[in-house]
Amino acid sequence: MATEEKDILRGGQFLVKETNCEDVFTPEDFSEEQNMMKESVMEFNDREIIAHKARFEAKDYALTEEVMRKAGEMGFLSVAVPEAYGGMGMGFVSTVLTCDYISSGTGSFSTAFGAHTGIGTMPITLYGTEEQKQKYVPKLASGQWFGAYCLTEPGAGSDANSGKTTAELSADGKSYKINGQKMWISNAGFCSLMIVFARIEDDKNITGFIVEYDAENPNGITLGEEEHKLGIRASSTRQVFFNDTVVPVENMLAGRGEGFKIAMNALNVGRIKLAAACLDSQRRILTTAVEYATERKQFKTPIADFGAIKTKLAEMAANAYAGESATYRAAKNIEDRIAMREAAGNTHQEAELKGVEEYAIECSILKVAVSEDVQASADEGIQIFGGMGFSEDTPMEAAWRDARIARIYEGTNEINRMLCVGMLVKKAMKGHVDLLGPAQKVQEELMGIPSFETPDYSELFSEEKAMIAKLKKAFLMVAGGAVQKFGPQLEEHQQLLIAAADILIEIYMAESAILRTEKNAKRFGEDSQSAQIAMAKLYLYHAVDIVEEKGKESIISFAEGDEQRMMLMGLKRFTKYQNYPDIVDLRIEIAEKVKAEKKYCF
Ligand SMILES: Cc1cc2nc3c(=O)[nH]c(=O)nc-3n(C[C@H](O)[C@H](O)[C@H](O)COP(=O)(O)OP(=O)(O)OC[C@H]3O[C@@H](n4cnc5c(N)ncnc54)[C@H](O)[C@@H]3O)c2cc1C
Repeated sequence: MATEEKDILRGGQFLVKETNCEDVFTPEDFSEEQNMMKESVMEFNDREIIAHKARFEAKDYALTEEVMRKAGEMGFLSVAVPEAYGGMGMGFVSTVLTCDYISSGTGSFSTAFGAHTGIGTMPITLYGTEEQKQKYVPKLASGQWFGAYCLTEPGAGSDANSGKTTAELSADGKSYKINGQKMWISNAGFCSLMIVFARIEDDKNITGFIVEYDAENPNGITLGEEEHKLGIRASSTRQVFFNDTVVPVENMLAGRGEGFKIAMNALNVGRIKLAAACLDSQRRILTTAVEYATERKQFKTPIADFGAIKTKLAEMAANAYAGESATYRAAKNIEDRIAMREAAGNTHQEAELKGVEEYAIECSILKVAVSEDVQASADEGIQIFGGMGFSEDTPMEAAWRDARIARIYEGTNEINRMLCVGMLVKKAMKGHVDLLGPAQKVQEELMGIPSFETPDYSELFSEEKAMIAKLKKAFLMVAGGAVQKFGPQLEEHQQLLIAAADILIEIYMAESAILRTEKNAKRFGEDSQSAQIAMAKLYLYHAVDIVEEKGKESIISFAEGDEQRMMLMGLKRFTKYQNYPDIVDLRIEIAEKVKAEKKYCF
């Protein structure tokens, strides 16, 4: 049964509405079918990817293609594709789950998989006509054909709408001729279909086209050599040149000038899937690190027994746990939103498009947070391995190199930081999320006399939830103050936007970890969740520090005199614990659990 609109939080609304823990989806809520899918994907990852890790690192591009075909045979490329086009038509959570558990073997495969199933296929499933979908999607879903996505050009990276590739209509009106150069194109070396963005005449916005590619009959398409990259070494990345490439008019995607919209919406899906793709890497890095740390002895002691190493294990675990919590929370919100729209009469295509677009803020938040966590985790992984971590003979150096790309593609983390705050402000202006009312209340609270009552924080997470509510006030105070001061010119104050984004990101991630743990503590018992409770508390503690630091630098920059003093006092109040958690103890508890299980065990 479809969930009622009123029950589903809109995108960005987490900031102003309290969420009950019963209303968040967690990895512990996977259905039997989802757990079976997870097992099957993990088994595939072990057998087909991890077992051949060295070949991927040796730039065996053919292996990437071969494993992609096998993934197609297993149905993994078709999880998100509707049954009408040869897919499994599973929900969004299953799509995210597949992406999560198939991605940890090597970034090479994970990139090929993500580029094909996400930006290589989704533009057609989301925007294609019935004919386009019938013609192309079954081939992509089965792995008979692979897809690539050609947006970036030498002069058009983050400024994606500024591309110079042109599309010119033929005299008989039957086809377009595409001319131009694309670069950094994943899967270029083995794809049969490209989603190509080009400009028609002097249009303001680019247009999307479906372009077939057959090396035997190249239709003016030539490929550059494989790029030699820091990481994801066996992922095919090439330049693509179009020289009078003829594309029938019926291969235009959506309408003329709609390309930028397509590009951006495809990226929304890509971003949450990229976050998911970084999760199992974090689990695997931690597991490998703890296995090593319990074996490796120095000073006659396993290094895992040293406080310095325990700190690392605990922080790595807490970050991975928060990433999982937030990714699956958002994935289910998207799935529910799609179901709600379908129940209201939208086609699956419209529902999916709008469902994902609704949570574009969360998709950007996740992309930034999880891509940075996986990098930090791999970095500490190397440190735990010491000199061996620097060697190609152990898995950490490849994990570190592979993780690095996640902060660059699908929109750099700088662009995504600015996007998530920009989108939130836009939603507020459109009336989709009421930020003004809550921001005014915070303003009044700042002017008023603070309460001197001592709240009762005896119940699990009562203080942490009160803290999250205060952090939200801090965001409203800081971002609201900046909007008031600069209005539409806020766009030009990137340092403020980025600071606000950091606050927003921390709130979403910390809240997600707390809600997941609260839900699980209620149903499985607090004792069973002891380490998870410690991780949620540890994550929040750091989040509070970040909010304080970013809030402070912002307030000092845009407010002066009494206003500045009042806001700084407010910030202090909004970031103050009544009972500070002993994070040294929390870290020990988490590390001991991980050590005892010798793996990421949550
Ligand atoms: C391995 C790999 C695979 C890729 N796969 C694909 C693919 O399949 N298809 C595709 O189309 N593209 C692909 N890309 C391209 C990728 O999406 C771009 O590299 C990315 O969007 C950044 O663009 P750029 O490299 O031109 O950097 P630039 O846009 O030049 O950015 C350089 C730096 O400036 C910052 N910056 C840029 N603009 C602003 C701004 N307005 N405000 C503040 N900071 C700014 C950026 O954050 C970054 O730190 C891939 C790239 C790589 C490396």
